[in-house]
Amino acid sequence: MNIKMVDLKGQYKSIKEELDLAMAKVIADTAFIKGKYVQEFKENLEDYLGVKHIIPCGNGTDALQLALMAMDYERGSEVITTPFTFVATVEVICLLGLKPKFVDVDPETFNIDVTKLEAAISEKTKCILPVHLFGQACDMTSVMRIADKHSIDVIEDTAQAISAKYNYRGKDVFCGTIGNIGTLSFFPSKNLGCYGDGGAVMTNDDALAHKINLYANHGSLKKYYYETIGINSRLDGLQAAILNTKLKYLDEYVDSRNHAAQVYDSLLEQAPDVIRPARRTDRSHVFHQYTLRIQNKDRDEVQAALKAQGIPTAVYYPEPLYKQGIYQEYVTEEEVFPVTDQLCQQVLSLPMHTELTQEMQEFIVEKLISALRN
Ligand SMILES: *Cc1c(COP(=O)(O)O)cnc(C)c1O
Repeated sequence: MNIKMVDLKGQYKSIKEELDLAMAKVIADTAFIKGKYVQEFKENLEDYLGVKHIIPCGNGTDALQLALMAMDYERGSEVITTPFTFVATVEVICLLGLKPKFVDVDPETFNIDVTKLEAAISEKTKCILPVHLFGQACDMTSVMRIADKHSIDVIEDTAQAISAKYNYRGKDVFCGTIGNIGTLSFFPSKNLGCYGDGGAVMTNDDALAHKINLYANHGSLKKYYYETIGINSRLDGLQAAILNTKLKYLDEYVDSRNHAAQVYDSLLEQAPDVIRPARRTDRSHVFHQYTLRIQNKDRDEVQAALKAQGIPTAVYYPEPLYKQGIYQEYVTEEEVFPVTDQLCQQVLSLPMHTELTQEMQEFIVEKLISALRN
């Protein structure tokens, strides 16, 4: 059986004609940079997410950088996030001369532990940057309550959770639209992925949208006239056309990921030594990853046993950021992150994509259970 961690080819084949046509149109129109396809995607995504402004940009890392640039924080200001995330979240904070302040994650959801949030706020704290890890929202009600109380901003890293919903103040809304700004990545393996790099920033705030646009375009709104120092970060026409096509299927993709997660859940019901992904009732899960915790067994040995059977798995993330290279300088001796430390030892993500079959999943779980029994 040919099992892949992510099956981009299978997904492409299922809508090949439509995608090929969309790409051919962009080339025929030579609408490579900016232009109507980017505009069309921007508007469609605004409608889909119910957000006032989408600013497409080069990738999800740029989206985070642009969000923070638009806030104009003084150097040395603190931004709260978790050490259990992809490096980009923390990298942009440091890149802009700001200071990441880490808060450990919740052992069940892997998202920022809101019970530890308030203690991390200081005079210098300007922003909370929660990550909706693996496709399920953080506890945004608590994040927003604490942020409001201390008059600080919230930027949601929504790279892994596009289209995930959260019941906020009695209403189901999309992740990324609750805080001041939300960011997206369209990296090929993300839930809405393009065929190269792509990203977007979202906000309901007109002034912030204006600034983000400015910063993403060399600090310029009128060609060859510059208001400030910016960067060059844009989504290209080909990627926009691909995303426009795939956006129509996003709900279907979310459904098939949820179906696959359900199948894993039931197949793993009796499995020893694994903790299945936690789901919260007031929010949806879009299963960017289906991530288990392996207990009482060596995770790396389990992973190697699966690999020997031709089953790919992944470890997101193997080493806490605060223990690595330059990032060590942002924590003091007294700061400890026991949950992050333990998760880095225990987590194992199973193959998760839109083309998984019941047969593949049965095979994966059968081999996983026998690896756990050894
Ligand atoms: C993928 C990802 C990013 C960065 O996105 P790129 O498009 O690869 O730059 C940022 N944060 C998280 C949590 C991600 O998973």
